[in-house]
This record gives sequence, structure tokens and C-alpha cells, in this order.
Amino acid sequence: MSEFELINQWFMGKGSKRPDVLTGVGDDCAITRVEPGCDLVVSSDTLVEGVHFPVDTAPEAIGHKLMAVNLSDVASMGAEPCWANLCLTLPRMDSDWLAGFARGLDGLATEHQVSLIGGDTTRGPLTLSLTIQGQVPHGQALMRSGARPGDRIYVTGNLGDAALALAVINGLVPMDPHTFDVVRERLDRPQPRVAAGRALRGLASSCVDVSDGLAADLGHVLDASCVGAIIHLDALPLSDVGAEYLASDPGRAMALSGGDDYELCFTVPEAAAFEAEEALTCLGLRCSWIGKVEAGSGLRCIDASGKRHDVAQAGYEHF
Ligand code: ADP
Ligand code: MG
Repeated sequence: MSEFELINQWFMGKGSKRPDVLTGVGDDCAITRVEPGCDLVVSSDTLVEGVHFPVDTAPEAIGHKLMAVNLSDVASMGAEPCWANLCLTLPRMDSDWLAGFARGLDGLATEHQVSLIGGDTTRGPLTLSLTIQGQVPHGQALMRSGARPGDRIYVTGNLGDAALALAVINGLVPMDPHTFDVVRERLDRPQPRVAAGRALRGLASSCVDVSDGLAADLGHVLDASCVGAIIHLDALPLSDVGAEYLASDPGRAMALSGGDDYELCFTVPEAAAFEAEEALTCLGLRCSWIGKVEAGSGLRCIDASGKRHDVAQAGYEHF
């Protein structure tokens, strides 16, 4: 199978068919039409085997995750995802792998009305890169820089399950296989909070997606907004499995610093708090009030007894 047959078979016409795609896969560039009155948002993310996903990860999960981590960035801006470009580096031609990968990518793209409009295909160590584009009404994107002292800090969903799965895979935490399946699903198939991001337009003062751990990603918001914050550790939302396994962890380190959650962390002025909570409840999404923005700088974390805990705020860094 040639490079072009590979593209035609696995990546031509994937995702949603959108009327704003004038030319998709097949020409030197794709052509799309941005809606009048909208700003374009663009983001790229790369997955490297052994770094961003365990070596034994199913190809379908890799395809899903590549789309999910990019959608999560668009979600955090409150934007509507539209178009994606896929850059694929493969060690060899493997039809079974490609079929699974394309299925995972296509499934989540279609669910979120994203059209795969182009990319590049090369041979080398397995590396998967996606660039996603979305649109948002002029000036309405949710930025990291808008948090103000007094704003409430919220997070969607639950934290720490993906980090827990990774700890089990790395032999650091024992877990029975059935329970492991639950958290492995959270590691392999994160659900990007696209609808939540859109619902928070005009309500949230800032927003970030939690990819490197809550402490690290909220830290970016605090730096960009020139503010500090206090977080209540007992308010961090945990799943049933998370509650069981992380109960003995007084600093809630996995929920606070573990990566790969792909939830949204956002700030809301007090006056808009009720409306924001309602908006997410209408989507059936858990939304937890975990702390408050303060004047100053840095993140303070306190437990139920008021004791302060130091957090590893760095998150995962490649260099
Ligand atoms: P060129 O050499 O002109 O850059 P390519 O031969 O790289 O074009 O690609 C041919 C067409 O296939 C282009 O439209 C490109 O966007 C698309 N394409 C290449 N690889 C992929 C891929 N992995 N997924 C989706 N589209 C792809
Ligand atoms: Mg090219």
C-alpha cells in the first residue's frame, strides 16, 4: 500500500462532513470558511508512545485520545471545534493498527462535528500530532488571564483517576483488574468538556483544561492573571474509585498534581456563580467549587482542618 492509498483508505473524509469545508484532504491545502463575526482558535498536541500513552495502549484509544486532548484545548477557550489536521509518523504499514486508530479518531471527531481536512504522513518512530481549529464569536474566547480576586474556582468532573491508572500500570499501586478497567478507561478515553466550555462563555472569567495536573494548570491561570488562590483539598472531586484509593493521601497529591484529567478548571465572579453552576448541571456534568482567587500570587492548599499542604506545582515537563 502506497502513502496515498493509506491516506485514501484511512483518513479521507473522516469526522463530520461540514459545509464550511470547501476543500478537504487531497489538495495542497485545505480550504475552510470561518463564520463572519467569529475568531479562529488554533491548537496542536502531539502524542509520543511511552511518554503520552503506555506502550500497550489499544490503537483505537490512541486515536480517541489524540482527538480528545486537542478538543480539550478548544473546550477551554469556550470555542466550537471545527477542523483538524493529522500529522502521522509510523514505524511501518500496519493495517490493523491504522484501522483501530482511524476508528478512535473518527468516532470522537464525528461526535464533536469536527472534519479531518488534511495532514502529513511519514515513516519513523510512532508519533501522532494533531492541529485543531475552532471558532468563537468575536472577543468571547475564555482566556487564562481573566481571573480576579474574589472569583470562585471550579473544576468539572473528577480528578486523579488517570494518574491512578498510570500508578497501577507502573506498579506503584495494587488494584484488582475490574477496578483497574474503570480508571484505565479514564486514562485512555478522556471526554473533552466541549459543551461545558461553550456554556461558560460570558460567565467564566478564565478557563484552562487540566492536562498536566490541577495545581500546574491552575498555576498558569494565576500567573497569567497576576493573582493567587486558595484551594480546599477536601473539595477536590473524586470518583468512587478515587475516593477509595486516594482517601489515605492527605495532600490529595494525585488529584492535585496527577495529569491527564482533561477536565476544565475555571473561575467565575461571585455574581455569575449560580448561573454557571446551573449551566453545567443542565449538561449533566459535575461541577465542584474548590477554592477562591486571591490578591497576591501563588497557590495555597489547605485540608479540612485548616492545615496547609505544599504541592508539587510543576506538572509534567519534557525538558
Ligand atoms: P503535499 O506533498 O503536497 O504536502 P501530501 O502528499 O503530503 O501533500 O498529502 C496529500 C494530501 O493528503 C493533502 O491534502 C494532505 O493534507 C493529506 N494528508 C496527508 N497525510 C494525511 C493524514 N495522515 N491525514 C489526513 N490527511 C492527510
Ligand atoms: Mg504536505
